[in-house]
Amino acid sequence: MPPQLQFLGPGVFFLPGAVNSVVVEGPGGRALLVDTGLDDTHARKLLRAVEGAGLTPGAILNTHSHADHHGGNTFLLGRFPDLPVYAPPLEAAIIRHPVLEPLSLWGAAPPAELRTKFLLAPASPAQGVGPGVQALGSIEVELLPVPGHAAEMYAVRVDEVLYAADALFGPEALGKHPLTFGADSAQQKASAAALGEVEGVRVVLPGHGDPTPNLAGLVSANLAAYARTTDAVTAALAQGPATVDELLVRVGAALGMTATNPGAWVLNRAVISAHLTELLAVGAATLTLEGGVLRARA
Ligand SMILES: [Zn+2]
Repeated sequence: MPPQLQFLGPGVFFLPGAVNSVVVEGPGGRALLVDTGLDDTHARKLLRAVEGAGLTPGAILNTHSHADHHGGNTFLLGRFPDLPVYAPPLEAAIIRHPVLEPLSLWGAAPPAELRTKFLLAPASPAQGVGPGVQALGSIEVELLPVPGHAAEMYAVRVDEVLYAADALFGPEALGKHPLTFGADSAQQKASAAALGEVEGVRVVLPGHGDPTPNLAGLVSANLAAYARTTDAVTAALAQGPATVDELLVRVGAALGMTATNPGAWVLNRAVISAHLTELLAVGAATLTLEGGVLRARA
């Protein structure tokens, strides 16, 4: 069976995968491809499905700069060199200079263990686009700012269809990754809550997971997951002053999870840092530097 696009709404389709790709049909059979997947394999499937539906790529939108959402750009640009690539401005900078992703997670030049395709996609010539109603390659969509999971990110609305990108995860993804990735957990919570207020949504598709008509249910499942992480960091701090790494060990034990590779470890560690920043900002924790060790305490 060749890969097939699935219907979300009139002129809006998606290709299911480890990460979903959304396809928005525009004038003249041109299609906007929203998120291109991790690599050539996903992008090749996406192109076959798009062409199988009688459409031609007209533009790419990457909702954010995580490698699994733009790693497929290279394959598509190889076939269609003039395809414009859009992304939120800060994310576009990272997509043009993708080493910024593992560099920011590691805090220095990343070692080979962090230069995997999951953290370091090939560079592509993304250009920044602002929020609101935009015509991307003449295909009109509404871009809703949903920062938090990434520094900047857009959800995409087309009539009654909402693609939440990674502002909302499907229940299975939330269960599989108890430390849901977020760079700014306070913004992440605000963005999820804001998506819950969008009116007239008939179907919502998360970046990872299945489409559902139950926007409110998806929002509350995500808010509960983010709150659980904040609570776990709070509980870890209550056990006594700790470095970020020690907090990660305590939270991992509480949530029954451990990282199995350096890439997963830096991502988990960043989640702890994000929730710690949130607690520091509201005065629920402080940082102390003693004997050369930076610790957080409740
Ligand atoms: Zn992501």
